[in-house]
Amino acid sequence: MHKKIAVLMLSSFVFVACGVKPNSSKAVDVSIDLTAVDHDMLTVVHDPGKIKKESIKFFIPKTVPGTYELNDYGQFVQEMTAYDYDGNTMAVVQEDENTWTINNAKNLDKVSYKVNDTYDENDEGGVFSPAGTNIEEGENYMLNLHGFVGYFEGLQEMTHQLKITRPIDMDGASSLQVASRDTIAQKVTDAYVTSRYFGLIDNPMMYGNLDKTTFDIQGMQVEFSVYSPNSVYTAEDLKPGLEKMVQAQKSFLGQIDNTPLYSIILYLSDMDKTDARGFGALEHHTSTTVVLPETMPLSELEETMTDVVSHEFFHIITPLNLQSEEVHFFDYNTPKMSQHLWLYEGVTEYFANLFQVNQGLISEQEFYERMTEKIQTSKGFNDELAFTELSTHILTDDYKEQYYNVYLKGALIGMTLDIKLRELSDGDQGILKTLKTLIDKYGKDKPFKDEKLIAEIVKVTYPEIQDYFDAYVTSTTPIPYGEFFDKVGLAYVKKEKKTGFFMDGQTPFIDVNTKDNTLFFRKAYPLNSTLKAIGVKPGDVLKSVNGKDYALHNVRALINASFRWKKGDDLTMLVERDGEEIELSGEITQPTMATYELEEKSISEDSEAYQLREAWLKS
Ligand SMILES: [Zn+2]
Repeated sequence: MHKKIAVLMLSSFVFVACGVKPNSSKAVDVSIDLTAVDHDMLTVVHDPGKIKKESIKFFIPKTVPGTYELNDYGQFVQEMTAYDYDGNTMAVVQEDENTWTINNAKNLDKVSYKVNDTYDENDEGGVFSPAGTNIEEGENYMLNLHGFVGYFEGLQEMTHQLKITRPIDMDGASSLQVASRDTIAQKVTDAYVTSRYFGLIDNPMMYGNLDKTTFDIQGMQVEFSVYSPNSVYTAEDLKPGLEKMVQAQKSFLGQIDNTPLYSIILYLSDMDKTDARGFGALEHHTSTTVVLPETMPLSELEETMTDVVSHEFFHIITPLNLQSEEVHFFDYNTPKMSQHLWLYEGVTEYFANLFQVNQGLISEQEFYERMTEKIQTSKGFNDELAFTELSTHILTDDYKEQYYNVYLKGALIGMTLDIKLRELSDGDQGILKTLKTLIDKYGKDKPFKDEKLIAEIVKVTYPEIQDYFDAYVTSTTPIPYGEFFDKVGLAYVKKEKKTGFFMDGQTPFIDVNTKDNTLFFRKAYPLNSTLKAIGVKPGDVLKSVNGKDYALHNVRALINASFRWKKGDDLTMLVERDGEEIELSGEITQPTMATYELEEKSISEDSEAYQLREAWLKS
């Protein structure tokens, strides 16, 4: 899945963080002409070949793998029109937002429809930007193909051919290779072929005014394409950092990944206009799409790309090469979720941090700080919710608020399981080695039964690992982190630290609701002592402070004003909680919050704990 980054909209900083030749008589043919934009929409023509049934359904995905969200991509589709072999229109019945039925289907030649993009929609229609779409005529086309190309019932496993027509001087980026190319006048048609519909979902494309570069790491070619609307960044600017990162990932992984070509598609969003605002990335087997603000300074952009792209790349381990049937036989319109998000997202996120300390990109101290920050932030979520239950129900309203915790506690499950495995194997077999053993048994074409995974892990490791899962993954016991750190000679120390009223260093206690530009207190970060003392609750909408109204447009003024507050003065806030306005009052105190730090105990290099720590972080 993807890695989401929380960015406080008003500021520029980030604070977290298949080719096959078509058997043309049997292929499904889809075409999109980028040179024919009509009212900010593209027309898709979809020819399924001969239909043998009386009635057939056409679907646009409700969701796609890795997003863990129901997004109804059909909401962007208009004017669904069916044609018979004589070119006459046929009746089309829309069943729901993503489903259309065509009767007399034996006469059906093709369907044609118009598609709107997500990036310039209010709130992007709820779609996370790296899974979203952009149509900016002559300039940029973000083609996450699930947003454009649907599928006919039962034809998902057929060869699909996609033709994209573009101006002759426009570039395209995708890990899917062009199978053939036709030039007529000043237009070029690129034809792509995939052995099944999933190949279109798994290979996003970006066309437009792109800047591109490539580099080779141990036999894998990496193609990096960037769209920077105001030409702030070139591909070369970010290439050195990416090269170093991919090199380190390959060294950490060893023999696991045989991808000959990996494509990184970076869309930099224009912060001065309506544009993509869901920053982060979404993984695919041989590519990743990344969306970040164009205003980010280079050093931050490099650091964020390292964290985000490495997370997406490590999905090569799981779910891309180790997946349950729910993932492998993915149902785009009636999805069934796996219990194992702790593995797919959590362990992936853990690896994206572990490889950096393992390969010397960050120090041990930085790694400890990242892990303690995850512990601290995860405590803002329900720590007594079984992770397998959270995972199974992630698409439902009751659970989706807990989703972000898969990157926090999920990663911490990865870490503590890794420590436990190292302890039981005298340092030899950590989680990476364990997963590689399972990949040898399963791999990308052989999904496991969801309910059998834990037993499989226990089988290739130790009986004690069953106890670990029983306590911390399938039931509600919070993880006693201190006990695990103790095994590797680290002391887990609680401290009280000073913070700002609305900011903890670079991390804000408040966020912006992009739907109405109101401010609210974040649920995913603990409140400081002053906010707690006057009665603020996570999720409260902040209306006014000391009688002055605040929202997105003047939040900077609020933060600046708070720097001048004096101890002992009155502090009042009007907040909205569950639709009710509540007046909070108290006095200004020095805000503090509890923080945990990891300290290396002074132990001998011969001690078991020291050896285990070395094995955990450095082998
Ligand atoms: Zn992910």
